[in-house]
Amino acid sequence: MSSTSIVSSPPKLVVANWKMHGSLLRNQQLIEAYLQGLRSITRAEVVVCVPYPYLAQMTDLLSGTSVAWGAQNVAKYEEGAYTGEVGAQMLKDFGATHVIIGHSERSTAYCESDENIAEKFMMAKRYGLTPILCVGETLLEREAGVMERVVGKQLETIIRLFGGEAFANTIVSYEPIWAIGTGLAASSEQAVAMHEFIRHTVATADKTAAGTVKILYGGSVNPQNAVQLLNQKEIDGALVGRCSLDAEQFIKICQAVPENSVI
Ligand code: PEP
Repeated sequence: MSSTSIVSSPPKLVVANWKMHGSLLRNQQLIEAYLQGLRSITRAEVVVCVPYPYLAQMTDLLSGTSVAWGAQNVAKYEEGAYTGEVGAQMLKDFGATHVIIGHSERSTAYCESDENIAEKFMMAKRYGLTPILCVGETLLEREAGVMERVVGKQLETIIRLFGGEAFANTIVSYEPIWAIGTGLAASSEQAVAMHEFIRHTVATADKTAAGTVKILYGGSVNPQNAVQLLNQKEIDGALVGRCSLDAEQFIKICQAVPENSVI
């Protein structure tokens, strides 16, 4: 006979990806509204990933608060003649704790290979930054039923180059490319299936690492679909683009993190 019980669920991580949006004034207003709204929320841990020039502003606005901040990319090199690149130590200098790696808006536009992304992932780790590795398939790949092969290859590149232990205490964000910025989020069934596949792939390479990696969902998360998505135990949080630019919507997404789960 099976029985169900209610347990308090662990906090979930909600990451704001501001992409190339913001100004000193707008950022200040947005962060003030975030901090005000987050006062009553204890279930969501929040990280804000901002354009590089605003990292210094985040050290002013967020030091001493519960909100952490990070960047949206990092160089695969430590330093040198790489015009336009920004190194991991530079992010650390401005208090960043997290960095998004391999977002499809970058990997598509700048033809980043899985190997290049893997090197950035390791560079972030080497400097004590938590990488948020984005993985996901295109619509064509989903329609062809090869989404697990695509996501598997993205993960396997890191495993092949650096071992499964590289995933310990990192973050993977499942971001189906067809869901990013389209208003068409994955269903919770689609997201859960892929999250299980991601954890299984990491576990096959390193069981301990699989127990510590957080797996987020990203792609048109809004206050309505967040309720269902964040209620799934396989989904450790959300990466939020468009709705992170509106404090009211972002706070509602954070409020969707459940207090309790039924197991
Ligand atoms: C993203 O930037 O990773 C993202 C998921 O964007 P949006 O929420 O706008 O789809």
